[in-house]
Amino acid sequence: MTGSIERQLSGWGRYPSGTTEVCRPERLSDLRECMSEATSLVARGLGRSYGDAAFNSAGFTVLTERLNRFVAFDAESGILDCEAGVTVDEILSVLVPRGFFLPVVPGTKYVTMGGALACDVHGKNHHKDGSLSRHVTDFRLLTPSGDLVFCSREENSDLFWATVGGLGLTGIVTDLRIKLIPLESSYVSVDYDRAENIDKALELFHESDEKYKYSVAWLDGIASGRSLGRSVLMRGNPAAAGPGTDLSRHSSRSFSVPDVFPGFLLNRVSVRAFNTVYYRKHPRKAREVLTHYESFFFPLDRLSNWNRLYGKKGFLQYQFAVPYEGGREALIKVLELFAKSRYGMFLAVLKRFGPGEAASALSFPMPGYTLAADLPCRDAGMFDFLRQIDRVVSAAGGRIYLGKDARLAADAVREMYEGLDAWLELKARVDPDRRLTSDLARRLELVP
Ligand SMILES: Cc1cc2nc3c(=O)[nH]c(=O)nc-3n(C[C@H](O)[C@H](O)[C@H](O)COP(=O)(O)OP(=O)(O)OC[C@H]3O[C@@H](n4cnc5c(N)ncnc54)[C@H](O)[C@@H]3O)c2cc1C
Repeated sequence: MTGSIERQLSGWGRYPSGTTEVCRPERLSDLRECMSEATSLVARGLGRSYGDAAFNSAGFTVLTERLNRFVAFDAESGILDCEAGVTVDEILSVLVPRGFFLPVVPGTKYVTMGGALACDVHGKNHHKDGSLSRHVTDFRLLTPSGDLVFCSREENSDLFWATVGGLGLTGIVTDLRIKLIPLESSYVSVDYDRAENIDKALELFHESDEKYKYSVAWLDGIASGRSLGRSVLMRGNPAAAGPGTDLSRHSSRSFSVPDVFPGFLLNRVSVRAFNTVYYRKHPRKAREVLTHYESFFFPLDRLSNWNRLYGKKGFLQYQFAVPYEGGREALIKVLELFAKSRYGMFLAVLKRFGPGEAASALSFPMPGYTLAADLPCRDAGMFDFLRQIDRVVSAAGGRIYLGKDARLAADAVREMYEGLDAWLELKARVDPDRRLTSDLARRLELVP
């Protein structure tokens, strides 16, 4: 294909990686050319999915970063019309000063809207507002046949729901419409509560989460015994305009981690020490702390390339969700297994999910709890250990987030995602020659 080059790519976790042909279309006509000429391909946004969802070492990877035009914005309705390569960073930069915010944002602003839709990302407000797809009115999808299909809840709704969370395997989203929310200020009024263990954290979530639009807890994934799952809950509501607030956008300054950072510096001992300090530095209770949205939603973005902190072998992010019924017991079991193992959970985050998007077979959120943690890649034993954790999650009726996954087995994904058979049928219909594929799709046998 004209202009394509070979590149080694990975996800944000830097494990695994693969060599692929990449093309960077700038216009729809270039994208159509990629779609018609490539024997196999997958779209890639900013590569912030952690594992192997966004590259295809058996063929082409289509970078969408130049398909990033704003098409229109209607301040009356709040509807933004943009191409799929536009990023959260770009949208907030332009629209926060005008008093608008995205209805759902993940923990980094460096994602494209196409990538975010293909993972159906959730934010800290899932218990109130659901995931991203709930706010997307429609999109256009370039399918392997070369058709540009308009998808909404009313028109081609089967394709709409198969694409939401569908990891780029039904087509390439070219542009979409999303309803933004009005913003009075760039600040969140945050309440902090320390919870001495997991039971206290869950009690606080259930007792008062409904008061907050945004809710999340940092969790000490190394503490054990009576402190198992000790957490700091950070919950807040958009701050009204007033003293100390404005409509300032986020800063674009960041510090970069060099690629020579020795991964062994992050180990159970150093992280245990860090977690103790982090837990104690927060007061037992603090109220209405005015915090800029950047620090609240994207705390890690100030350190660009922070994924290098885990060293060249990379890291995994293990994120699972379990339903409320039996969820507490499953969380405790997982935390205990980690506490007894050699594998420390770093940067663990606990949230509550509200109702998921039931019509979407591969969308991750389900009503219940979700826990996400980073795990540096150490040895093969870790993969066996995580299979044990998968079984606990699966037995509790839970599931793993595929947008973060790099190692799940194909049979496990079938147990976890009930609607998979129907999704595979639709995939076979829209992509009969199995051209839309990725390393993840082959690993999980999502390409029938
Ligand atoms: C620090 C950090 C915090 C995060 N926090 C959260 C969080 O709170 N909640 C959450 O849900 N996720 C979270 N994530 C995951 C991240 O939000 C998602 O993986 C997101 O989809 C990545 O967007 P991207 O543009 O980088 O997509 P990529 O990683 O490049 O691609 C992701 C998937 O989307 C597909 N895709 C990309 N563009 C298109 C397109 N135009 N059409 C069709 N398919 C496409 C790709 O094929 C791939 O399967 C986080 C990631 C990081 C690194």
